Parts: sequence; structure tokens; C-alpha cells
Amino acid sequence: MSWRAMEKVLVVGSGLTGAASACFLREACPEMSVVIWDKARGIGGRMSTSRSPKDSECTVDLGAQYITATPEYRQKHSRLYEDLLSMGILSPLAAKIEGDSSVNGTNYVTPQGSSSLVKYFIQKSGVQVMRDHQINSVSLGDKGQITVGTLSGVRDQFDGVLLTMPVPQILQLQGDIKSIIDKQSEVKRKLEAVRYSSRFCLGLFYKAGAKLGVPWSAKYIPDHDCLRFVSIDSRKRGRDEVTSAPSVVVHTSVPFGVNNLERDKEEIAPEIYDHFTKMFPEFPEPEHIKGHKWRYSQVSQGYEGSPGYLILQENPFIICGGDGFAHSKFDGCIDSTEAVVSAFIKQQKKLKADL
Ligand code: FAD
Repeated sequence: MSWRAMEKVLVVGSGLTGAASACFLREACPEMSVVIWDKARGIGGRMSTSRSPKDSECTVDLGAQYITATPEYRQKHSRLYEDLLSMGILSPLAAKIEGDSSVNGTNYVTPQGSSSLVKYFIQKSGVQVMRDHQINSVSLGDKGQITVGTLSGVRDQFDGVLLTMPVPQILQLQGDIKSIIDKQSEVKRKLEAVRYSSRFCLGLFYKAGAKLGVPWSAKYIPDHDCLRFVSIDSRKRGRDEVTSAPSVVVHTSVPFGVNNLERDKEEIAPEIYDHFTKMFPEFPEPEHIKGHKWRYSQVSQGYEGSPGYLILQENPFIICGGDGFAHSKFDGCIDSTEAVVSAFIKQQKKLKADL
């Protein structure tokens, strides 16, 4: 069978890897039509920014907190860093993070929240994001295409598919993708070996003018049963505390997350808040509390060899990317994006040459 060049590509996931891949792919292959499907209602994945239901100006980052660029990565991704800094998407972290051990590098924050970083790539790409599209099956369809289906019954055909969700969620997919993985026993073993940490977090939204009564903007808490990191998110991102409502994010430790993983986020939120108020009695009562569970938080063991991507099948093209194939940081996702996009370019060239 001769395969046609890829015209229609689906990116699954509107996190950093999916958004940056869509953007770079559109730049490299403008002839491709690219669409993103995500199961969530919002954009950003683990770089999502939540709004207070009482005040839409009051936001908090529940996942990624700040970006640490090592000198090597600052050099490797210098064009991207320069673009993001000049656009004001990133700015140098002015506040001190107490107990931060990652001294080798420069820290940056996202003044508009971490999701603004992901939105930057989506806007630049011009790609449409279909929200509430939780894919549950990937199968081989008619005419050499890939049929992708969602839980809610949406189905469509694509010439190429990029999967950027955490690896355990790739392994849960139904359809021909299961047998494609099963047939490659080494690949299956390496996929099953990928591990993520788990943690809970709270977003605390305060009224405008609330006095938070501590001088720091973020701190790591060593040796606590439950709490690991607390940040006055608005202060960390350099927002004006006199005119805007402050917000706080509280992360639990990984052992606490793992030990309570099957508990509900609503059930566990008061327990975490109780630990927080005992440790920091100077904070006033927030106007709203939002709990969240990160079942797949950061990669603790990546795909063997950190290749940045994994081609599951060449024709039709099914490829995986994301921090599971690199490492859980901004630069890890960009490494993965670059590897994914060059694999797409290579495959497209091959397909065009075979025509
Ligand atoms: P994700 O962001 O997970 O994107 C995957 C997307 O796929 C999601 O939007 C999800 O909704 C979607 N999806 C999943 N399953 C399906 C499905 N079946 N159908 C459709 N869509 C699906 N990094 C830093 O650089 N600095 C930090 O300070 C930092 N701190 C962190 C703190 C926490 C608590 C967490 C959780 C992460 C942190 N990280 C940090 C890591 C960073 O957030 C991740 O490495 C990065 O966001 C991963 O991006 P991704 O696009 O690869 O995956």
C-alpha cells in the first residue's frame, strides 16, 4: 500500500507539549491541518491556572510554579526564552523561594499564570482546541487513516496522531492501539516502567486587600507529614497586592499524596487546610478554597533513555511525546516537542518521496 502525505493531524492534550508541538508543527509543515483535543474544560494540563469563582481576577497556579533554566538550557532554548521574555509571558522571579535547592539556574515566573505560557503557543499556532474531548480509542480506520473516538461518542479520522498525555493514560486507551503496543514487548515494558509522583494541592483565594501577614512569597517545608510547598502565588508572580486579590497555593508532600491517592480531593481538602492553618496561623480566612489531586504530578522515572518521543507506528503515524519521554520541567517538554516535530518532518518527507 502506498501512503499519502499527512494532511490532517490530531494532537491529543493541550498541555505545554501538545501546544508547543502544534505550534512548531504548523511552522514546519504549513500544509498540515492540525487540531488539538483535550479532555479538560480548560487549557494548560499541568500548567493550568484556576480562577476564584468569587473574583475572576484572582487566579492561582495549581501545578507548575516557576521555571528554572539551567545555563545549558538557557543557551539551548535561548531563542524561545528571548521571545517569551520580550512578550512578557515570562519574567525573572524577583521573590526569594525559601528552601529552594535548585541553585544551578535562573528562575522565571509567568506573570499571567502558567496557562498563559501554553496559550501563547496555541494562539501563535492558530490551532483550534476542542475541549471536553476525552479520547478513549485509537484504531486503524479506512483508507490508511487513524480513527480516534471520545467517551462522548465523537469520532474522526486523521493521517497522524500525537499523544501527549501522561504515559499511564496512553496505556488505558482502547482499540487497535492496544495490540500495536502489545506486539512490541520491549516498548510495552518501557512504557509500563514510566512512573509519576502524586500529590494534592489547595488553591486559597482571598478578598482584595487581605493581609497575609508573612514576608516571604514561597517556601518549601522540610519533614512535614502533609505539607511540602506553600506559595503566595500572586506575590510570587509579582501582582500588585494593594489592588488585586491575593491567592495562595499549598502542595502536599509526595508520600502524603501516594498514601491518600484513592481519597477524594473534596474529602481531603479540609485535612490539608487544617495542617496549613496550624503551621501558618497568621493567614486570614480565604474567601474560597479549591482542592485538586495530581494523580500524575511529576515524572519520577521517565521512558528509558529519555528519547523525547516514541513512534508507536509509522504508517499511519502514531507518536507519543510529553514529559514522560524527557523530564518534568519546561525545558523537558520543549526537548520532547523538538524531538516530536523533527520526527513528523522526517516522516512527512518520506511519505512525499514515496508518492
Ligand atoms: P500535561 O500538562 O499533563 O498535558 C497533557 C494533557 O492531556 C492534559 O491537558 C490532559 O487534560 C490531556 N489528556 C489526558 N488524557 C486525555 C485523554 N484521554 N483525552 C484527551 N486529553 C487527555 N514544571 C516546571 O517546569 N516547574 C515547576 O515548578 C513545576 N512544578 C510542578 C508542580 C506540580 C504540582 C505539577 C503537577 C507539575 C509541575 N511541573 C513543573 C511539571 C510540569 O507541569 C509538566 O512537566 C508539564 O506541564 C507537562 O506538560 P505535558 O504537556 O507534557 O503534559
